[in-house]
Amino acid sequence: GLERLNPAQREAVRHLGGPLLVLAGAGTGKTRVIAHRIAFLVREAGLPPRRIAAVTFTNKAAREMAERVRGLLGPREAQGLRVGTFHTLGLEILRERPEAVGRRPGFSLLDEHDAAALARELLRGRAPEEEARALLGSISRWKAALKDPEAARAEGGDPRAAQLYVAYRRALLAYNAFDLDDLILEAVRLLEEDRQSRERWQGRIRHLLVDEYQDTNLAQYRLARLLAGPEAALTAVGDDDQAIYGWRGADPENLRRLAEDLPGLKVVRLEQNYRCAGSILRVANGLIAHNRHLFPKRLRSERGYGEPVRVLEAADGEQEARRVADALLEHRFRTGAPWGAYAILYRSNHQARAFERALRERDVPYRLSGGTSFFDRTEVKDVLAYLRLLVNPDDDAAFLRVVNTPRRELGAATVEALGRYARERDVGLLTACLEVGLEARVGRRGAARLRRFAEWITGLGRESADPVALVERLLEEAGYEAWLREEARDERAAERRWANVRELVGWLARLRDRAEGEADLQELVARLCLLGRLDREEDEGGAQAVQLATLHAAKGLEFDHVYIAGLEEGLLPHRSAVEQGTVEEERRLLYVGITRARRTLTLSYARRRGRRGAEAEPEPSRFLQELPPEDLCWERAGAPDPQAARERGRAYLALLRQRLTG
Ligand code: ATP
Ligand code: MG
Repeated sequence: GLERLNPAQREAVRHLGGPLLVLAGAGTGKTRVIAHRIAFLVREAGLPPRRIAAVTFTNKAAREMAERVRGLLGPREAQGLRVGTFHTLGLEILRERPEAVGRRPGFSLLDEHDAAALARELLRGRAPEEEARALLGSISRWKAALKDPEAARAEGGDPRAAQLYVAYRRALLAYNAFDLDDLILEAVRLLEEDRQSRERWQGRIRHLLVDEYQDTNLAQYRLARLLAGPEAALTAVGDDDQAIYGWRGADPENLRRLAEDLPGLKVVRLEQNYRCAGSILRVANGLIAHNRHLFPKRLRSERGYGEPVRVLEAADGEQEARRVADALLEHRFRTGAPWGAYAILYRSNHQARAFERALRERDVPYRLSGGTSFFDRTEVKDVLAYLRLLVNPDDDAAFLRVVNTPRRELGAATVEALGRYARERDVGLLTACLEVGLEARVGRRGAARLRRFAEWITGLGRESADPVALVERLLEEAGYEAWLREEARDERAAERRWANVRELVGWLARLRDRAEGEADLQELVARLCLLGRLDREEDEGGAQAVQLATLHAAKGLEFDHVYIAGLEEGLLPHRSAVEQGTVEEERRLLYVGITRARRTLTLSYARRRGRRGAEAEPEPSRFLQELPPEDLCWERAGAPDPQAARERGRAYLALLRQRLTG
């Protein structure tokens, strides 16, 4: 069924014959335009769905987009449509011809943890984890800007990072692996250098649509241009006021670049906000007016004024979490809204802990995104590493993770000697285990143990059994469950960890069942790794839970009731941003958070905050001073509002009654 569109939206949806940019503020229907435009291109412009690709920012957004288009077109008519992220698109391109960029089929993907482990190994373990990550951050920004090591060195900057870049790139090649940035960078290189691939892909994709365009970096921009081809069959939608990935090399100048690069570019502005209550939009506009602007914009509210924005003060971080949780409970009992209508947003992951505790204490179901997720758990990473090694014997990072998990009596010296030997022989670690020359280097006993391990893995890897059955066998033969029970603190911890392993196997089975046609283990593992890496959110159960998320992770989403916590100097704006002079990006980040709210918005801050043992007494965020005071309603700490207290009393009574009767 078709939803309504206003005239400007309709103009964008129906534009034909040239590239299109929709440049518009939050909640104006940009994402809706993409969905409708896809339907239009299929229905009225006669493009087959498999000739259309849409790029969103997360896998979750991609699933929602696919769902929406199916709703507009019907499942049959929408079949074959490509909806994904730049990363999934890059993966698909690379999968087709990995040889063109020096890899072999079955290459592996390194996640941030693997990349950091590799970097530390290359730094000979001399760098602490945090430093390794900082150096990797520089490398990542170079990759986003399409700079190879030579260009990076020429540019100046940290010479240690440039040096590491050289070694890191060599290691990735040797490991037959890509990291996340490579999925885009190397796909660009492949399409630029391999004319056949380029033409094949340009023939395949007759129209490319990109959401959240303001957060693309140069590499992504180039990939989009290459895929859009000479006809520039491209639709981009974005909002420069919501650019929040500058620290990762995204460049909102790409919006302007588009107009310069594509002479025929049609630009459509949308000015009606359909999402936020009037008060919320006023607060958002008041805040963002303090930034310099690439493109001036107006935003009108389509909705009534609603309630003023609440500002809660708390004595410390723990009290802040309790106040927010109480306010949320109270609101829910008054209105009967479902848990999924609520979101609590914050600047940094470490803020989540206090909220998790406060919500658990009150029996409120919640869902955490962007934190230590399922895929970050040790046991999940262990099993994934086994799977990666199974499908790619050259995945040295995976090898190092599992060779002694469970313990196989292989000392660090043995593994190190193996590493040196493998490097000399220019083979992967697993392959090196099987070479006859190894014994001279690691001794008879060590060599025998390594060989046993390697023969077991390669044997399993050759099996052509059902992927899920194969994984079950691997776990069984490794004795992984028994090992978990030995290692865990107590029985309950062991149960929890084993349940996570079972869940992972369940995911694998679901992916297998969902895949069309045959799905081998290699394909499933690649998908699983991507899932874990790109958006670490749960697949199901969202509607019944309060969403806890960082401001970054909340981009593009909307909730009826939003709480934003920690409006303090040093936290929002973040200390590092103040030091580096990027406060404007922090302001945009808060702007993104505010404009997620449909009906009510509550901001909070603490007078005291303890972090890493150190207590601080931060000032309230400067951003609070920038909001129009007439639209705010302050509730100070220690001065309880009698009205609120009465409501809280009523809410608890209702809760009690519900418990007694239900
Ligand atoms: P963001 O910048 O946050 O990504 P957006 O511009 O992509 O926002 P959408 O998410 O597409 O905005 O739309 C915001 C809300 O407004 C959605 O709930 C959408 O269904 C609704 N909406 C969009 N256009 C219309 C319209 N013409 N009539 C009624 N509702 C609309
Ligand atoms: Mg959107």
